[in-house]
Amino acid sequence: AAKSAGRNRFHFFTRALGVAAQERLQQEQALKSALQNQEIYVEYQPKVDFSSDELVGVEALVRWRRNGQVVSPAQFIPVAEDSGQIVEIGRHVLRTACRDACEVLVGPLFSVPVAVNVSIRQLTDPGFIGDLKAALAESGLPGHALEIEVTESVLMQNMEAAAEVLGKIKALGVRIAIDDFGTGYSSLAYLASLPVDVLKIDKFFVDAYATHPKNMAVITAIIDLAQHLRLDVIAEGVETRSQADFLLAHGCRCMQGFYFSRPLSLAALQEYAKRMQTELLRA
Ligand code: C2E
Ligand code: MG
Ligand code: MG
Ligand code: MG
Repeated sequence: AAKSAGRNRFHFFTRALGVAAQERLQQEQALKSALQNQEIYVEYQPKVDFSSDELVGVEALVRWRRNGQVVSPAQFIPVAEDSGQIVEIGRHVLRTACRDACEVLVGPLFSVPVAVNVSIRQLTDPGFIGDLKAALAESGLPGHALEIEVTESVLMQNMEAAAEVLGKIKALGVRIAIDDFGTGYSSLAYLASLPVDVLKIDKFFVDAYATHPKNMAVITAIIDLAQHLRLDVIAEGVETRSQADFLLAHGCRCMQGFYFSRPLSLAALQEYAKRMQTELLRA
């Protein structure tokens, strides 16, 4: 009996594995055709200077429209990371963002950078710097109008490899932001030595400062740190006026979040940017 129970358990185990593997394979397959069928596209979320109400940048965020439903990047990026498809998807996002930014953001009216998220698999891909150069060259976007966002936890896990690539990115004039800052236990010594331009305060602290006052100290410490290292600082996930007021009062002027705007299509971003410009001229 013991033997057969063991065999059943084994049987169950392999079947469960089989289902998981099958689902993964299906998602990989679907992602492959998604790229071919242009189901992968990009939205842009404005970054705003709350003290002057100016547009200071935008962040490109990848989307997948699968059978009429939009799949969140939180769901498919990890699959694409594992399968390596992230390299091709990332290249597509980079090229799209550079081209779109040239059309909408870098002109006589505006001159703000577009930020593109890059995962570790992309960053350490031997073709990444070549892809970056190609995206800039074919769009005509100047390097300083592009920003690369890398999450803090990813940087810290791959410090040696990351530092080398960041240096090469920087050599192209491209800006570098550390995303989700405050959650990845950065070594401050390393932070000072990396060619970083911007710290992005993670949404977690923006949400939690009101309920857990100690997070207030974390936010103000990050803002101070940025000032001392002469880095720009921006808060992500700002949803309310009181969060925006709190951040501004503590010296963080740049913000991003639903309070200002959700991620937008290129056309809607164009309208948003025009509207902001008109209001500024009127004020
Ligand atoms: P992230 O880079 O930290 O981007 C911020 C995420 O927070 C976005 O989610 C954005 O839509 C969302 N967000 C912005 N403001 C608010 C707010 O006020 N409230 C709330 N609740 N959420 C807000 P999204 O687009 O689902 O992206 C999730 C993550 O997926 C990103 O986090 C980024 O790490 C990754 N990602 C997105 N696009 C790409 C890409 O092209 N390549 C790579 N490698 N990763 C990407
Ligand atoms: Mg980001
Ligand atoms: Mg972030
Ligand atoms: Mg985040």
